[in-house]
Amino acid sequence: MDIFKPLDLSGDNQKPDIESTEKVRCLIIGSGPAGYTAAIYSARANLKPVLYTGLQMGGQLTTTTEVENFPGYPDGVTGPAMMEDLKKQAERFGAEVRFGIATKVDFSSKKHKVTFDEEKVIEADVVIIATGATARYLGLEAESKYSGMGVSACATCDGFFYKGKDVAVVGGGDTAAEEATYLSGLCRKVYMVVRRNVLRASKAMQDKVINIPNIEILWEHQAIDLYGDNGVEGMVLVKHKGTPQEEIVKVKIDGFFLAIGHTPNSVVFKDFLATNEAGYIITTPGSTKTTVPGVFAAGDVQDPVYRQAVTAAGSGCMAAIDAERYLSECK
Ligand code: FAD
Ligand code: NAP
Repeated sequence: MDIFKPLDLSGDNQKPDIESTEKVRCLIIGSGPAGYTAAIYSARANLKPVLYTGLQMGGQLTTTTEVENFPGYPDGVTGPAMMEDLKKQAERFGAEVRFGIATKVDFSSKKHKVTFDEEKVIEADVVIIATGATARYLGLEAESKYSGMGVSACATCDGFFYKGKDVAVVGGGDTAAEEATYLSGLCRKVYMVVRRNVLRASKAMQDKVINIPNIEILWEHQAIDLYGDNGVEGMVLVKHKGTPQEEIVKVKIDGFFLAIGHTPNSVVFKDFLATNEAGYIITTPGSTKTTVPGVFAAGDVQDPVYRQAVTAAGSGCMAAIDAERYLSECK
């Protein structure tokens, strides 16, 4: 394969671990919609991309059943099938897909180094980071039990399945307020489960949810369990936890939406790249450029706002084009 270049071992001061260093033009980290789209575009631009999948091959969509809002699938598609399609399309143009987790990076020179699985070092002219973000869950056993059967962390993705039904949104921040507002247009009733007696959301969002008639805020409530024989049929809450008024209540619902924040998968890069206070990689507006030349970021890892498969794919395309232009300018 032409991505392998002969190692120069003639120097006296070569360290033994350099023997495992492989040079590539374009390295893509992550196998979600952003990573695979970057692979399709960069392979077609002859950048010979090498893509490392990470632990979750195919990304977040492999944890869901139906995807109905990705363009090109008029009858919908399952998340795993769609991601397999994207992988095949990337491979068709020559992208090399490998399993491995980025465990260390060194972006201090133009030859960007990324270590995979703590041993394999890749030296890349350009790096596209597409490591996504992970939705936070409460940590209840019931969340895994009912995963895909009434529990979701994405109202825009799954809200449609609860048309005319009763749902709950956990959280009191802007995301929860937005998700509740979105669901209120589809569902019969939306409960917001808020652990304190105030919302963290901005004043404008607070005013909005408080004035929507089919949203009911359950102040000082915390979800502790879910029940139901064939999917979620209700939630168990503790009200006024830790006070003399503490009580357990049950509320019938069909869908349970988590909106307590996301964690961008950026920890491994944070010593070299600027991130915002929540850990999202900062990119120059209108591009995928990070604070290090030759390193680009695409998808949810740099997007605290939209977090959709199609926007991730769109920015994966942008990253490949930005990378190709960077390499042309370096010539
Ligand atoms: P991700 O899909 O999160 O992929 C990240 C990739 O990076 C993974 O392959 C992971 O293994 C890899 N990775 C992470 N860390 C490392 C590392 N250190 N080294 C190497 N690789 C690493 N969106 C929609 O548009 N429609 C839907 O219907 C929809 N449904 C959803 C349902 C669920 C349950 C969830 C959780 C999300 C849903 N979304 C949906 C949102 C959508 O999945 C995301 O917006 C999208 O997957 C983001 O793509 P991404 O490529 O940025 O990252
Ligand atoms: P966030 O602001 O951190 O809010 C998380 C919410 O979840 C808080 O209400 C928090 O409660 C609650 N929560 C956290 N852990 C919980 C737990 N274990 N049990 C119960 N509740 C829990 O997160 P976010 O809403 O995702 O917003 C992230 C950032 O994006 C914010 O800066 C936000 O302003 C921004 N954002 C902006 C917009 C917009 O402007 N349109 C939209 C979405 C997001 P406490 O309040 O008690 O801590």
